[in-house]
Amino acid sequence: MINERELIQEALEARKSSHSPYSHFAVGAALLCSDGQVIRGTNVENASFGGTICAERSAFLAAISMGKRDFLAVAIVGAPHGDRIDKICAPCGICRQFMSEFCGPDFKIVLYDGEGPVLRTLGELLPDTFLLKGDE
Ligand SMILES: [Zn+2]
Repeated sequence: MINERELIQEALEARKSSHSPYSHFAVGAALLCSDGQVIRGTNVENASFGGTICAERSAFLAAISMGKRDFLAVAIVGAPHGDRIDKICAPCGICRQFMSEFCGPDFKIVLYDGEGPVLRTLGELLPDTFLLKGDE
C-alpha cells in the first residue's frame, strides 16, 4: 500500500493540472481507495464562481463515479501559482462535510507543509458531523 509521502507526491502531480485562473491558487489531491487505487483530483474554477470545485471533491467525484465507496486517506497540497509549498492547505468546510458522507471520523487527511506529511483525521477537522442517516 502506498505511504503518506507517496500519496503527497500523487497530489503534487495532480496540482499541475489545476485550472485556477481566478484565484491563482493551485490545489492537488490524491485519494487512496481501500482497494489500493489512487485517484487524483485538482481544483477546477469557473467564471461563474459557484461552479468552482475543490481538488479533494474532484478526486472523490471521480472515484465515486468509478463505483468506489471505501476510502482510506486523502492527501491535499496547495499554494499560489509558482510558489513553493510552505504551509498546509486544509480542506474547506464544504469538502469536510462532503467527505463525511463517505468517510468516518478515522479517515486520514494527509496535509503537506513543504517538509513532510502533517496528519489529521476527518473527526479532528469536522467533529459532531451532521448526518441524516443516523449511523455513527
Ligand atoms: Zn473544498
